[in-house]
Amino acid sequence: MIDVEAIRAQFPILSRQVNGKPLTYLDNGASAQKPQVVLDTIQRAYAEEYSNVHRGLHTLSTISTENYEGVRGTVARFIGAPSEDHVVFTSGTTEGINLVAYGWAMPRMEAGDEIVLSIMEHHANIVPWHFLRERMGVKIVWVDVDVNGDLDPQAVLDAVTDRTKLIAVTHMSNVLGTVVDVATICEGARPRGVPVLVDGSQAAVHMPVDVAELGCDFYAITGHKLYGPSGSGAIFIHPDRMAEMRPFMGGGDMIRDVHRDEVIYNDPPMKFEAGTPGIVQTIGMGAALEWMMGVGMAEIADHERGLRDYARDRLDGLNWLNVQGRSAGKGAIFSFTIDGAAHAHDISTVLDKKGVAVRAGQHCAQPLMEHMGLTATCRASFGVYNTRAEVDVLIDALELCHDLFA
Ligand code: PLP
Repeated sequence: MIDVEAIRAQFPILSRQVNGKPLTYLDNGASAQKPQVVLDTIQRAYAEEYSNVHRGLHTLSTISTENYEGVRGTVARFIGAPSEDHVVFTSGTTEGINLVAYGWAMPRMEAGDEIVLSIMEHHANIVPWHFLRERMGVKIVWVDVDVNGDLDPQAVLDAVTDRTKLIAVTHMSNVLGTVVDVATICEGARPRGVPVLVDGSQAAVHMPVDVAELGCDFYAITGHKLYGPSGSGAIFIHPDRMAEMRPFMGGGDMIRDVHRDEVIYNDPPMKFEAGTPGIVQTIGMGAALEWMMGVGMAEIADHERGLRDYARDRLDGLNWLNVQGRSAGKGAIFSFTIDGAAHAHDISTVLDKKGVAVRAGQHCAQPLMEHMGLTATCRASFGVYNTRAEVDVLIDALELCHDLFA
């Protein structure tokens, strides 16, 4: 069991006030706060150890390169990748999925080929595939969720045809908290020769992830949700898929030799990392992942399960509140509307006055919102440092909204 007060003490921002009230930060699905060890690592990387990576032979460049490259192994351990060579650094999930769209899918797909998506995807796992639809005539095949917000893995597999070139699914919905059984999807897709891309942006924050066990081909994570800096991220790419990929961006670092008439690329994974990378961001992400593994991913999952159950019970007690998605195994992410209330933005504004930070809107998941017949919801998303007392603060603030608007 984690000592949540000891965890909270490591996050300086959690002791601040917002609008005269203690901060109740429930917008972790959008981005998480940073522990002191990450802030210290960033400070040290700039103040004492900064230089460009892979380029110079001087001392600082060597230190910077070692710190930066060391994170590849940390990411591999964090997501269970068999080797750090299977890890490509990115600026976040969005870049990771675009890398797969341009580097792997585009050269391998033609008009009429299909990609299977769930209706729950974040725009980061939709828009790159719309590019292929618009530019190449690729067809997007959508798989709906059921009334509980669950995605039936068999329905995903049933959507596969002879023209399917890729399945791209989230591991955890950023709107409903639904956890998708990606292992079953990967198991069913493999004999049919269809690779699976998993958007791990949310799941990797809340549960232990093992890409080897999942059997996926691509697994994207984003550093700023993992208690690390924004502008950092990584994607696991199965070596067979990596061998099939062409580079997406060209520039320094991803090449070995450049001549007038010829270019020879670096070996993967660096072949897919052009230009000066997010050096300090990546080093900061490494510190964040080490911190999470130090706390223990199973312990984090256990703590958040308790929060989820407590929050669900308390939210269920408000008979004027409509919580979207009743999936049994969901994570601690709740999207809701209030009967008769004004727009979700108004609810969020009232909550903010009480120091409660939530997100309001479409959550970059418009197809899901359309599927649910909604234009906007409020979303409370929990993290490792949240407490039951904060659930109570949320409930009190929601009751105030109900009094004001209903
Ligand atoms: N996928 C999911 C499920 C997300 O929740 C997010 C971020 O909100 C993303 C992708 C995009 O991540 P980023 O903006 O860090 O690239």
